[in-house]
Amino acid sequence: MTDTDTPYFLQPFMKRRARTRIVCTVGPATGTLARIKRLIRSGMSVGRLNLSHGTPDEHHSYVKMLRAAAEELGVAVGILADLPGPKYRVGEMEQAEITLVSGQAFVLQVEPCKGNLERANVWPPGLHKDIKKGSQVLIDEGMVELRAESIEGTNINCRVTLGGVMKTNKAVTAPGNTSTLDYFTSETLRALEFVESSDIDFVGLSYVRNADDMLRVRAHLQKAGKNPQLVAKIEIQQAVNNLVEILDESDAIMVARGDLGVELPFERVPSVQKQIIRMANEAGKPVITATQMLESMIEQPSPTRAEATDVYNAVRDGTDAIMLSGETSVGKFPFRAVNAMTRIAKRAESYLEYPMLAERHRAAAKKGGLAVDNAIADGAVVAASSLQAKAIVAFTESGSTAGRVAAFRPSVPLFALTPDFTGGAKLALRWGVIPVVVKQFTQLQDMFHAGSQLVLETSIAGEGDVIVVVVGLPIGVAGTTNLLRVITLPEPLVDQV
Ligand code: PEP
Repeated sequence: MTDTDTPYFLQPFMKRRARTRIVCTVGPATGTLARIKRLIRSGMSVGRLNLSHGTPDEHHSYVKMLRAAAEELGVAVGILADLPGPKYRVGEMEQAEITLVSGQAFVLQVEPCKGNLERANVWPPGLHKDIKKGSQVLIDEGMVELRAESIEGTNINCRVTLGGVMKTNKAVTAPGNTSTLDYFTSETLRALEFVESSDIDFVGLSYVRNADDMLRVRAHLQKAGKNPQLVAKIEIQQAVNNLVEILDESDAIMVARGDLGVELPFERVPSVQKQIIRMANEAGKPVITATQMLESMIEQPSPTRAEATDVYNAVRDGTDAIMLSGETSVGKFPFRAVNAMTRIAKRAESYLEYPMLAERHRAAAKKGGLAVDNAIADGAVVAASSLQAKAIVAFTESGSTAGRVAAFRPSVPLFALTPDFTGGAKLALRWGVIPVVVKQFTQLQDMFHAGSQLVLETSIAGEGDVIVVVVGLPIGVAGTTNLLRVITLPEPLVDQV
């Protein structure tokens, strides 16, 4: 949509969408153009690539298909690429599977070797510096448990406390210990090369530890002329300890419960999840709740009752986005999983405590001093609620005006009118935002008229209804939010005023 003379059109599936954003990991189960279009129609706002798996060629083809599908359907879809981050792994093993038994001795070593029943290499080098005598070491998310009995040079002499199968490349975790690895491992550098050569809106930082990791990745990408939004994946104790500084340096945050539940005792995951959601809401930054949300749907056509309750509670707690991993990348029922998420999220949204969520952000924003942009964004949401407006229409260049309004959680549809399709994709994690691409306006009255036409032509509102319009002046300059107007429909064109 680029011209006010052309009627505005909203795909019927956009009207049926949940306001909570749905992130879908794309993989073999969904990696065709037709399937990606089906994911979008089912409610996907962001397609995710896990750069720890697959090849750059596969990832490039997914990006191409995501962009093509979004364009064909005329909707903005964001692309999130997750970096591997600093993670220890088991080196090459002699056989595909080696079974360790409880009570046996086992050595983890820096020195390269082919793993066998007695020893295995762990890479990148460094684990021996991170852990102490007595530390627990988990292989493959706890499938095998070891205890470090002594550290001799670069060798860690362990006792197996839970026997199981060791395989090449499986994750090695030392819960609660401080990782001394450089963030830029060779795997992460290769993934960053992919991001630099591709068209990515959001970059997920796995195993981020502190603000410095965030700043270094941002500087690295900016040096290559790339400025994606950075999503801090909170999955280790160090990140939980440094949440405030990490949140300050991130554009969005993810509760990465898969690794979090290995790094922390699993009974701590729910309270940490709630804490992260609350802090992100206060900061007005999008938060994604991820992993095992509908895990059983990898194999089954319906979620368990516990999974439905988990998704529901995350939405009620204030998550902006919910994520599917294996369910959509390798699962048997990817579209049913997205539909199930949509149904559960919509149900939760009908009970959402909008004023409570707005107050969270308001109280925190006030502490940062008085700001015109937040006052206007907050005012728009309050006015929309008290005037029973049918929609808020935010004109946005960089996405910041619409993002600011979204942070106050309007209970009515929030349209982001942007002259830039990529600006729409950048809003794809923002709760409840419906991006619409319009021409670049130069006259304020044209903008008011366009807002009026949009809601009338898409049947969101009728004549006599009220909408709230938010604009940043001067027109065309990104980053300002300073004008609020209430319109009773229809709003005339400039030469009729
Ligand atoms: C997680 O650990 O929950 C997560 C989202 O990260 P990944 O899928 O990369 O393991």
